[in-house]
Amino acid sequence: MNHAHHHHTPTGSRLGATIAINVVITVAQVVGGLLSGSLALLSDALHNASDVVALIISAIAEKLITRTSTPEKTFGYRRAGVVAAMINSVTLMAIALLLIKEAVTRLIHPVDVSPGPVILLAILSIALNGLCVLLLKEEAEGSLNIRSASLHLFTDMVTSVAVLAGGVAVALFGVHRLDSLLSMGIALYLIYASWGLVIQSLSVLMQFTPPSVDVSKVEEAMLEEKAVRNIHHLHVWQLTDNDIHLEAHVDFHEDLPLSRVGDTLAGIEARLRNRFHVTHVLLQPEFEVCDDTDLIADAACRREPHDH
Ligand SMILES: [Zn+2]
Ligand SMILES: [Zn+2]
Ligand SMILES: [Zn+2]
Ligand SMILES: [Zn+2]
Repeated sequence: MNHAHHHHTPTGSRLGATIAINVVITVAQVVGGLLSGSLALLSDALHNASDVVALIISAIAEKLITRTSTPEKTFGYRRAGVVAAMINSVTLMAIALLLIKEAVTRLIHPVDVSPGPVILLAILSIALNGLCVLLLKEEAEGSLNIRSASLHLFTDMVTSVAVLAGGVAVALFGVHRLDSLLSMGIALYLIYASWGLVIQSLSVLMQFTPPSVDVSKVEEAMLEEKAVRNIHHLHVWQLTDNDIHLEAHVDFHEDLPLSRVGDTLAGIEARLRNRFHVTHVLLQPEFEVCDDTDLIADAACRREPHDH
């Protein structure tokens, strides 16, 4: 069977740039936090230090993805990006929960800080995180891994807008509670946004049917080949967010010569490729072999040993 895998091959250099930028933000915040005595800045520095780690995880994953397959790892490290997206989006959620805890504490016990360094560093953080988001914009569209990194950096930028607003509120009106309310709102948005990424990466890891594929339409398309009597024991899943794999048993009406079986399977494969963007097709032709007729063969799949 023909194979035409669509792999994205990102350069990774842009991730490198965002890592460097986040190191700069972290160092600037540590200095600003120590100078102003602002706990908020110091805890945000800690957060940005964890961002550096998250971005490094994404970068390592992107490197691993490009490694070639071996006899021991027939898929190579192609799922590394999905695993990285999973780790980073779960971490992002944990950070959001910490932000909420912090905000509640500050709402109850407002802290006086000198607004000068807070405002300056917030502006710096908006500019630099914004730059990071722009750097990753293109690659984010084709990769769950980069999308999780980019989303995170975007929320960091928005967080800094809130910090800026809070700093200005302190400087102009002496209002100390606005900052806490804003960061709580951002934390809730963070949870909402990272929840989507957790679900997406988990769906790939659990080998759920890709959301873009309607299995009943797939069966219909496969049955358009006249020689085919029945499609059963079908699995459709994603290796990565860009690769859809499909495997199935194809029951034939007649005991056809192998060359005609091949033509039929090629016809099915072309339909799956064109209509459902399936990148990897594996079909098992059968004539009076299998008693199964169920499209989704739960019982056959659980049988020991597996009868693929
Ligand atoms: Zn293959
Ligand atoms: Zn962050
Ligand atoms: Zn079968
Ligand atoms: Zn199975």
